Parts: sequence; C-alpha cells; structure tokens
Amino acid sequence: MRDLVGLTLQELEALAAGLGEPRYRGRQLARWVYDRRAIGFEVMTDLPEGLRARLATDAHIGRLRLVRRVDAAGDLTTKALLALRDGLTVETVLMRYDDGRRTVCVSTQVGCGMGCTFCATALAGLARNLSAGEIVDQVLLMRELTGERVTHVVFMGMGEPLANYEATLRAVRLLNAPYGPHIAMRRLTISTVGLVPQIRRLAAEGLQLTLAISLHAPDDALRSQLVPVNRRWPLAELVAAARDYAAATGRRVTFEYVLMAGVNDGERRAHELAALLAGLGAHVNVIPWNPVYGMAYRRPAPQAVSRFAAVLRRRGVPATIRVDRGVEIEAACGQLQRTHGARVPA
Ligand code: SF4
Repeated sequence: MRDLVGLTLQELEALAAGLGEPRYRGRQLARWVYDRRAIGFEVMTDLPEGLRARLATDAHIGRLRLVRRVDAAGDLTTKALLALRDGLTVETVLMRYDDGRRTVCVSTQVGCGMGCTFCATALAGLARNLSAGEIVDQVLLMRELTGERVTHVVFMGMGEPLANYEATLRAVRLLNAPYGPHIAMRRLTISTVGLVPQIRRLAAEGLQLTLAISLHAPDDALRSQLVPVNRRWPLAELVAAARDYAAATGRRVTFEYVLMAGVNDGERRAHELAALLAGLGAHVNVIPWNPVYGMAYRRPAPQAVSRFAAVLRRRGVPATIRVDRGVEIEAACGQLQRTHGARVPA
C-alpha cells in the first residue's frame, strides 16, 4: 500500500488520474496530507465517497504517533518521542529562539550505523532508514503539537542523513514545496559526519541548502578514534569536499565541533582547527558535550569552552558557542529514547 505522506503534488495528481479522477483531486489530497495532517480518509469530505473508498484500500496515511513529550524549563525546547508504524521510535526536537525562529531538529534513521564513540544514538546501531514521509511528518507533527509555525529545519537528530540520501532529499523538497510547510531552502540544514561522495552529490543538486559537517577533531588520528568514518574519508578529502560545496552553492559551510574535556578541547587543538579551516570562510559551532550515561567522556568547563572559541576567533575563524538547550530535558542525541526504550506497541 502506498503511503501518501512523502508523495509530491505531481505524484498525488498522477495517483488521482490513475484512479480515473481529475488531476485537481491530487491538489486536494496534498492539502489533506501536508496542510491539515489528516490521519484517515473519512475526514476528506471534499473528495467523492467512491474515491475515498478506493484510497482506503489502495493507500494509507503514514502518520507518526506521539509517545512522550518533554518541555524544557523556560519553554526553550520541546522534545518528542515518536512511534513509527512498526513500533520503532525516533526523536524530534523543536527549539525556540528570541528572534522568533522555530527550528525543528529531525531524525533521518532509527539509530545510526556510523559508530561515533561519544554518541548515545550510536550505541544501539542502525535499525532502519526512515522514509521521506516519516521525516516530513516529524515537522508536521511538531507544528500540530505546539501550534507554532516552523521556520527552520535541521537534519541533526538520530541518524546520518546522507546515509539515507534519497529519502532525505525527497524530504527536503517536500519541506520546501508551496503545498508543504514551504520552508526556504536556505533555512534547511543537512548535517553529515563526512560522507564525501554524498557531499559531492549534494553539491551537484544545485540547491541552496546549508551544509553542516560534524568535525570534532582537527587531525586524522584523533578524528578516526572519535568518528570511525574518518578512516574511509580522512580530513583532507573532507575539507576539500566542503570547499567545493561552498564554491558550487555559494553557501558558507558550518562545522560542528563537540568539545570533550581532556580529549579535544585544548588550546593546541583550537589552533590546529583554525589552521585546517583557514581560508575556507566557514563557521564553527562549538558544542559542549552532553553527558551520556555509561560513557567515559566528560563535559568541559565553561572556561575551556570560551577559551577554545576565542582562539578560533583570534585566528579569523568565526565561532559560536551553541546555547545549551539540551541537558535539562535529556536532549543529548538519543537519550530520551534510551530512557524510554527503543520500541513501543505499534
Ligand atoms: S554523532 Fe551522528 S553520525 Fe555519529 S553516530 Fe551519532 S547520530 Fe550517527
């Protein structure tokens, strides 16, 4: 059975035409699927009864189900644990900013197979990829849940988006579509741990997406320990791909750097990072590590975080310390899911 969530307007029109209906029925379907977030066909009262009956046997509407909601003190953040049709769960977070931005952080996979040694999501490995509909519905559900208009989406939740390339790109196009949430491409950010061929493929798509690369170390020896995929595509190849992405799209690349005390937070590392990124015009987000139960890493002291960012700025690399929105609601990647359990009854 075809899932209507994840189909483009053109595909919905073709579906209607294939059922002997005028193509404009596809536009009506798109409104129910992406605007009104219908969960069944019976509410689609502007469609003929016969069409609704055919759809009910030929298709389904793959909605996510809210399992648990956690709001951070001060209402900065709303985090949701969501169940998929097969009972597996993913996490989605809505972050609120003073300037009115409402950013949803979506997951692209259940779990993750990249094995980063400091990451809670990595612990259970990869269960499966999400479909484009399951990615888009996280945004639609957060909008419905909070009643707020989503202005930005970051693909930084569970999973490696570029390891689920087709579904991620389809989700990007749907989030950008006028019949969907209609979020500008520049306000969509794809994060990657460094899959170089997919970064190059993304650059060739001709989209104005923002690319964020999770770096976490300025030399290959340390990065290969923290981020195993570095053994396949070492830093020189990754930074070259980032440079080419910026040249092809005209978009400044962002680098994410999670700071762990005594591992990668020393001033020497900051100097090495500045040298690595020199002339790239890139921006660095410095993120103090969020504690994960059972992991031996430590969160750095606030002074170490400030010192690290200051070195980068002094060396001409723009750097921002990520405002901490996570610790108080267990929003370190994967933690809500770990405390709740990985599967819920479907
Ligand atoms: S940090 Fe990201 S890429 Fe690495 S294991 Fe965690 S979710 Fe996967």
